[in-house]
Amino acid sequence: MRRKIVAGNWKMNMNHTEGLLLAKAVDDFLLKKELHSMEVILCPPYIHLSQIAGLLRASNISTGAQDCSDKESGAYTGEISAGMIKSTGAEYVIIGHSERRSYHNESDELLNAKIKTALKNKLSVIFCCGEHLDEREKGNHFNIVKSQIEKAFNGIESEDFANIIIAYEPVWAIGTGVTASSDQAQEMHSYIRSIIKEFYGKKLSEETVLLYGGSCKPSNSAELFSMDDVDGGLIGGASLKEEDFCKIIDSFPGK
Ligand code: PEP
Repeated sequence: MRRKIVAGNWKMNMNHTEGLLLAKAVDDFLLKKELHSMEVILCPPYIHLSQIAGLLRASNISTGAQDCSDKESGAYTGEISAGMIKSTGAEYVIIGHSERRSYHNESDELLNAKIKTALKNKLSVIFCCGEHLDEREKGNHFNIVKSQIEKAFNGIESEDFANIIIAYEPVWAIGTGVTASSDQAQEMHSYIRSIIKEFYGKKLSEETVLLYGGSCKPSNSAELFSMDDVDGGLIGGASLKEEDFCKIIDSFPGK
């Protein structure tokens, strides 16, 4: 059975106190549950990461950053390295989020370098891919996602690919309130699994966790997560509201 994961991407939200309170509230929620088979990852802004990772050290919740530099260290003002992230106790890093691709012009080549640096520093990567609306309307969405994956994982061997999670996040669904239908999500996830099979073989294709992201909320999470190839979600806006995020965690079939 594949791992089931709900990850929260807080983006540039929450001051320090609010962030700690939210992390504590999610932890308290999970502690009250007797059995939960899904894993929860919180990705707060860098500046809160160390303290939140410390707060959650003894809990079942893991932490991750929302990005990292492709460089190991040096004169790169404002950048944060994968090694620094690892040293906070965080285990994950999101790479390739569409907001980074759009607002920071992150290219596939840069993302490939970031993934390599993250893996070298023993972080697991949550790699985001997904098409824009016009690309879907032209029927180009499969090609776009394949090309993003092909370029991002160029030169990454199977041993390292085992530390990769892929989040399918159609750009038209991120923060818009419009969600991909469960059939659209399943169709793309199954296609992504077939790409992984082509590049890394059957075993890794069956084991790789594929998350859906894009306006996932309590009212649609159960249906999305019930699809065969959807192993959980990367949640933006709804991860900022304790009640919504906990409901999404709770909506997993067989929780
Ligand atoms: C995201 O930013 O990864 C995301 C899925 O955002 P939202 O849930 O707000 O659409």
